[in-house]
Amino acid sequence: MKAPYLGRINLFWCHDCNVPVLAKKCASCDGATQKVQITPPGDVRPAFENDIIEINKKAEEQFGAPLITDKRIVLLNSVPGFDRFDEIIIDGVVAGALRFDVERLQLEFMPRLEGAVRIWGQNTQKSFVSVAEDAAQFILDGKSVLMPGVVDFDRTIKDGQEVIVTCGNRVIAVGKTRFSGKAAAAAKKGMFVKVRKRAENGEMRIPEGGQSRKKLLAANKGVIQCIESEALAFVKKTIESQDLPVVVSFSGGKDSLATLLLVRKVTEPKVLFVDTGIEFPETLDYVEKISEELNIQLLTAQAGDRFWRGIEVFGMSGRDCRWCCKVSKLGPVAKAASEHFPKGFLNFIGQRRYESEIRARSGQNWRNSWLPKQLCASPIQNWTALHIWLYLFKEGARSNPLYERGFERIGCWVCPSSSLAEIHSFKALHPDMWQRFEGALLSQGFTEDEVQFGFWRWQKLPKGQEHLKESLNVEAGKPKTVLRPYKTDFERAKNLATAFGGAITEDISLRANLCLGCGVCLAHCDHRAIEFRGGKIWIGEDCRGCRKCHQRCPIVKYLYQVGVITNHDS
Ligand code: SF4
Ligand code: SF4
Ligand SMILES: [Zn+2]
Repeated sequence: MKAPYLGRINLFWCHDCNVPVLAKKCASCDGATQKVQITPPGDVRPAFENDIIEINKKAEEQFGAPLITDKRIVLLNSVPGFDRFDEIIIDGVVAGALRFDVERLQLEFMPRLEGAVRIWGQNTQKSFVSVAEDAAQFILDGKSVLMPGVVDFDRTIKDGQEVIVTCGNRVIAVGKTRFSGKAAAAAKKGMFVKVRKRAENGEMRIPEGGQSRKKLLAANKGVIQCIESEALAFVKKTIESQDLPVVVSFSGGKDSLATLLLVRKVTEPKVLFVDTGIEFPETLDYVEKISEELNIQLLTAQAGDRFWRGIEVFGMSGRDCRWCCKVSKLGPVAKAASEHFPKGFLNFIGQRRYESEIRARSGQNWRNSWLPKQLCASPIQNWTALHIWLYLFKEGARSNPLYERGFERIGCWVCPSSSLAEIHSFKALHPDMWQRFEGALLSQGFTEDEVQFGFWRWQKLPKGQEHLKESLNVEAGKPKTVLRPYKTDFERAKNLATAFGGAITEDISLRANLCLGCGVCLAHCDHRAIEFRGGKIWIGEDCRGCRKCHQRCPIVKYLYQVGVITNHDS
């Protein structure tokens, strides 16, 4: 899969200091740095303790020895693809990758030559295939490992397993087996290992370890100063150009924390936190603690149980029908905004171009069509994840403990955008919460396999997922996307219809009856004509009948998308 261009890859390495540097010169030794060859877009992050434990656990399980044996700076580069795929960067080179095997539902370590050399150097005898001298040259020239050239191998190797190919004491390649060790013992011919990476000329030198965060910060001092002063200038300029209340949206994640720290160096903003009702308990706890620590009066917008109630209306939220963000996130923001900032506000958001193509296109200032009264601005738009972490380390800021536990993204725990790897980690961390969600998915009509392999994350599966489902022979369920029976609220339907000067049509009736009280519609009314009675919409006398609120109501929009509403005016 070709990665979209999201920005320049800034990752360099100072081989004298043995640390990554986000510039062509190291601020510590003044020496020139070298570009690190990684897969775009190159949004690298530091590996935390739990990441290293996980990598080593997998390396030991598969190869009998850990990859990382001493203290040194390790980075992870998330490669866009099917599920989790992180390149592991050690000493300025990619030493391997950790990927989530979506068929076996487990993490797998895939060594590169540099990683294999580190592992093989610890005298392990697991998952290796050794070849004769004359076969080695063919392999180095580009061929795979054929049975006649094999002189020894681990008899316990399985079919489709990652292996290290050696010749004498040297590691010459890494790859995947095409049949098992048992089958190989009886085979006289055939391709035993499909080679993925092979050795190039030159000795592989493993530099000294022992690098600390202090050393990392010293080497990046100039870069951090530069990005900080650029960001502060942007914040200042943006605030001065608008006569609007200044808000920072704080999610409990690293990007919004960096944004908050930056904006607070310029002004004292209002800080808005949305509790979607599906936040990690660790995030709620962290947000409370950091607010106390930073002495912040949080404005908390609560979504309550709207996500769970939304499932009963829309069916499960999917990547291709994502009603949950509107109901559980944007709605509460709209409600808080209508109460605290009715004339609009300037919202600093920790958005970065390296996160996605849409974000890369949006620029540093933008407006969200769902919340037209907020002007959004991101001072960290061009920062990579490593810029963020360096800044947070420099500031000595406490980050969400979930990062230390191996989570890369902090958000709702039932997000359909989650990778299977994230879901897997979540299940291990909070089995009881997962059980609740699993129960909801099963009662929605998904089969156990569909739940397990994550096919609930789409309403219509994309091609790759369709093929996976077929190859795994997964039984298809009958997910409910159509409405269950509901109680009719004639008064409310009449209220809406009267405001719009017409009859109670299908869309008006559904909106009135199924309203989740999310608040999305509030953001679209210029006349403050919307109120809530009994937790549901009620249109007041100031209404001008423009129907802007109606067109953006998730009930109308998504039930139209899934074919329940057959006709509406947006
Ligand atoms: S009517 Fe308003 S509050 Fe009710 S579901 Fe629609 S957008 Fe949300
Ligand atoms: S129809 Fe227009 S004026 Fe009336 S409540 Fe909706 S957005 Fe406000
Ligand atoms: Zn240096």
